[in-house]
Amino acid sequence: MIKTDIIIIGAGPTGLFTVFEAGLLKLKCHLIDALPQPGGQCSELYPKKPIYDIPGFPEILAGDLTKNLLEQGKQFEPGFTLGERAETIEKQEDGSFIVTTNKGTKHQAPVVAIASGLGSFEPRKPQIENLLDYEDKGVEYMIKEPEMYRNKNVVIAGGGDSALDWSIYLSDVAKSVTLVHRRNEFRGHLDSVEKVQELKNEGKINLITPAEVTNIFGNGKVEAIEITKSGEAPAIVETDHFIPLFGLSPKLGPIANWGLEIEKNAIKVNNALDYQTNIPGIFAIGDGNYYPGKLKLILCGFHEATIMCQAAYKIINPGKKFVLKYTTVSGIDGFDGTRKEAPKAVVQAIN
Ligand SMILES: Cc1cc2nc3c(=O)[nH]c(=O)nc-3n(C[C@H](O)[C@H](O)[C@H](O)COP(=O)(O)OP(=O)(O)OC[C@H]3O[C@@H](n4cnc5c(N)ncnc54)[C@H](O)[C@@H]3O)c2cc1C
Repeated sequence: MIKTDIIIIGAGPTGLFTVFEAGLLKLKCHLIDALPQPGGQCSELYPKKPIYDIPGFPEILAGDLTKNLLEQGKQFEPGFTLGERAETIEKQEDGSFIVTTNKGTKHQAPVVAIASGLGSFEPRKPQIENLLDYEDKGVEYMIKEPEMYRNKNVVIAGGGDSALDWSIYLSDVAKSVTLVHRRNEFRGHLDSVEKVQELKNEGKINLITPAEVTNIFGNGKVEAIEITKSGEAPAIVETDHFIPLFGLSPKLGPIANWGLEIEKNAIKVNNALDYQTNIPGIFAIGDGNYYPGKLKLILCGFHEATIMCQAAYKIINPGKKFVLKYTTVSGIDGFDGTRKEAPKAVVQAIN
């Protein structure tokens, strides 16, 4: 059982900034995300796009914003359960909540912050009859630990950046990499397409287009797949892994069954006060909440996270008075023992 002060469901920009604001109040956070990496939409959908409306940053790449948020929160030592979807929530007699993931990992805290954005990103799966029989037995929809493919035969399917980038990366790690795509053209960045072509010419990637994976064979785990190339008879290719990378689509998913009030496909919150839901102790912040006038913008998620943390403090420390201090005055005491000092001039001016 992982115990913490605030369980944050969703490690998008809102969830990541919550770690920092909670840390200032000496509250510890643990984040759960269905994706294998933090950053939410910023890292999954547009890491290389510049964002122009983050206060104080005239321009910042979405991927760099994620990196900065992780850096800013690091001093408060957040825990992460990545690649797992929060599935159930149970209220305990002492008022705390237990959140369990689809892989059975349990987390307990007095406060839950749902920062689930557009929802849990679920993989788009190819139409192969026996696909589900081989899930986690050689069929993977996202790559969490590239090292597990070392010296293995790998077949990747897809035509976007993920399929291209992982084929390039694994060509240095795996015994063999076969990339299968149903068209001759790829949707990814031109430099990635060119790199795949180069690796194909060097014999490091076996590129098969236009083609689809149409069957899987194996005794309890993937041992071979059938590839059907347009206009040709199906061919059997021996492999240890089949990785379809057809993109991810967000779904509100299991959270919709938690007894929370839902409006416009989002979780209704009390925006006049603290972004609490209809269940006391459960908050919803960022793109995943709804209130009149809601804007699905990163800076709005940051604001909501800040207000929400103050309310969480009161739940976790009943009766304790909280005095808001500027970080320029108080400095920051990290949970990792680091201290960021307040500049003396500011301290004197305030005193
Ligand atoms: C192409 C594009 C460009 C954009 N440009 C801008 C811009 O210029 N400026 C701006 O302000 N905004 C922009 N946005 C919107 C911005 O990305 C969102 O407002 C922001 O990502 C919301 O952050 P969030 O943390 O609330 O949610 P998200 O980023 O959606 O993160 C939510 C996370 O929760 C996880 N999750 C959901 N349910 C579960 C569950 N049950 N279990 C585990 N994990 C779960 C998801 O996997 C996801 O990682 C853009 C969006 C897109 C798609």
